Amino acid sequence: MFPRLTIGREVNRRVRFNKPARGGSTKPPAAVQQPASPRVDDVWEFRARAVQAHATNAKGTDMHSHYDLAVIGTGPAGQKAAINAAKMGKRVVAIEREPAVGGACIRTGTIPSKAMREAVMHLTGYRMRGIYGASYLVKKDITMHDLIFRCEHVVRHEIDVIKAQMQRNDVEMRFGAARFVDSHMLCIDASGGSDIVSADVFLIAVGSMPARPDNIPFERGRIIDSDGILELDTVPRSMIIVGGGVIGVEYACTLAALGTRVTLIDQRPRLLEFIDAEIAEALQYHVRQLGVRLCLGEAVADVSTDQSAVTAVLESGKRLCAHSLLFAVGRQGATQSLDLDAAGLSADERGRLRVDSQFRTAVPHIYAAGDVIGFPALASTSAEQGRLASCHAFGQPCPTVSAAMPYGIYTIPEISMVGPTEDQLTRDQVPYEVGVARYREIARGQLLGDQTGMLKLIFTQDTRRLIAVHVIGEGATELVHIGQAVIALGGTVQYFVDNVFNYPTLAECYKVAALDGINRSAAAHRRATERHANRPNTETPSESTTVGGEDLVDHESPVPAAPAIAPHITRVVRPAPRRPRRLPQTVAH
Ligand SMILES: Cc1cc2nc3c(=O)[nH]c(=O)nc-3n(C[C@H](O)[C@H](O)[C@H](O)COP(=O)(O)OP(=O)(O)OC[C@H]3O[C@@H](n4cnc5c(N)ncnc54)[C@H](O)[C@@H]3O)c2cc1C
Repeated sequence: MFPRLTIGREVNRRVRFNKPARGGSTKPPAAVQQPASPRVDDVWEFRARAVQAHATNAKGTDMHSHYDLAVIGTGPAGQKAAINAAKMGKRVVAIEREPAVGGACIRTGTIPSKAMREAVMHLTGYRMRGIYGASYLVKKDITMHDLIFRCEHVVRHEIDVIKAQMQRNDVEMRFGAARFVDSHMLCIDASGGSDIVSADVFLIAVGSMPARPDNIPFERGRIIDSDGILELDTVPRSMIIVGGGVIGVEYACTLAALGTRVTLIDQRPRLLEFIDAEIAEALQYHVRQLGVRLCLGEAVADVSTDQSAVTAVLESGKRLCAHSLLFAVGRQGATQSLDLDAAGLSADERGRLRVDSQFRTAVPHIYAAGDVIGFPALASTSAEQGRLASCHAFGQPCPTVSAAMPYGIYTIPEISMVGPTEDQLTRDQVPYEVGVARYREIARGQLLGDQTGMLKLIFTQDTRRLIAVHVIGEGATELVHIGQAVIALGGTVQYFVDNVFNYPTLAECYKVAALDGINRSAAAHRRATERHANRPNTETPSESTTVGGEDLVDHESPVPAAPAIAPHITRVVRPAPRRPRRLPQTVAH
């Protein structure tokens, strides 16, 4: 546990750290009041004032048990809220009921599952099979110990990093289970006794836990939830996975790559309904190639065990047997032990709290963020919600750049997306165009041995503004961020045409996909214009020509709203004379 830090030390340290850069004006933290709405561009002054306001706190309360902010839970939401408030000079306590910080993200969820996946990818030689053949293997007889070894290494390191961050920012840590005594007071129950703390503002960031219905006979090592995977002694020979959500599909892929015979059951007709249909189709193909049996549109009626096997009976009457069963159907907010009533709050039937757009619960000084408020329940979004909640609580302006949040799904191959799917855009009647690049066309794809990866750009038909990126393949979860930046800055696909990308990289997919999309859209515009002019098309069916693998695009595409296309490329097709332009409302391929 960290030593408690005194206010005096905190003030001194912050003043030293917040010194302006050489040559800048010195702004001593004199007796000033905290500004009601500090300007973002004057952050040094804001911090200095906040520290001073903190130091001269005249509430008269016991400064060792009263805080500006009490955060319950040290997962991504709690960490970022606590550190952000501490950086504003607030006195912050973070309370954690487990013996280590990090939350489900570090201890049981994101990091262990990704570490296990990386271990499997490495030890099975999976990534290199495209080059050295299906029998390529780095290690024979991979054990659970091999996988857990890598998990523990990464988890230990991440816990250390978080502890150091909390310490550096003077966030006080308390270990024990917190519950509300009233809306301004918490009781922390620890093995050594209970303690009371009070605060002006609270953040509930208690995360979630796997849903465990009463009719499923959970049993260590045999009928398990996602936390139980890490407690397996041996790699199961076969496994039934109930639930085709992100966690179920990720573990299905990891275990199948390891050689486990996996059957995946889900009530819905396709995997991961929120992702782009084309990507989902590709994923289902790859999952089957890994050897996973998919039972989609099927529901489980009963689960039982005997000495030798676990049996799942489906509503359709099918009986499936396996060595073990993973139940991965949803998670619920971990609010049961918080005594929410005492604070004037209540959770829904899945333990989740309702919040407004500023992450305030029904009690305005009690905020909630992360998994406990439900979708999207990702580590990345939880961290941002925590930061935004503490900004709002202490009046710090925090502009959000873009509403477009990326999603990363670590299946094999991995998937990532930012922005809407084609189905959503069609439903919303947004005219769009797509451009596609396949990894097999890209030198880096060949080097990686990934022949099947694909990147799809979606952009508006009239202005060519980028609105979405969908990727499946090696590095998808990294690659998506290039597109995310262009979307956030309101850029068009022309950006990818006009800029140089390192070679050989997967980033080149953006250029290829942009050219592909622009070619399609130019062709569509021209056809629409010709139809409008009621004039027969005398040109060849293809309006672009490929040289050296890259499409040559007509500069004089009659699309005034769109920027010039690939200005360095020679025009190879003579367009029809310019005519009054009418933007097409539908995609014409
Ligand atoms: C198998 C799996 C894989 C995942 N993979 C990804 C991924 O690849 N990418 C991604 O972005 N997200 C992933 N997630 C989701 C991600 O882990 C969560 O969205 C994230 O951890 C939520 O953060 P949080 O801060 O809300 O809660 P948590 O990380 O769950 O932290 C909550 C903390 O609060 C503590 N706590 C609870 N009650 C109390 C109490 N009464 N008093 C004190 N402390 C309390 C808990 O002990 C816990 O430490 C995955 C989740 C799982 C289960």
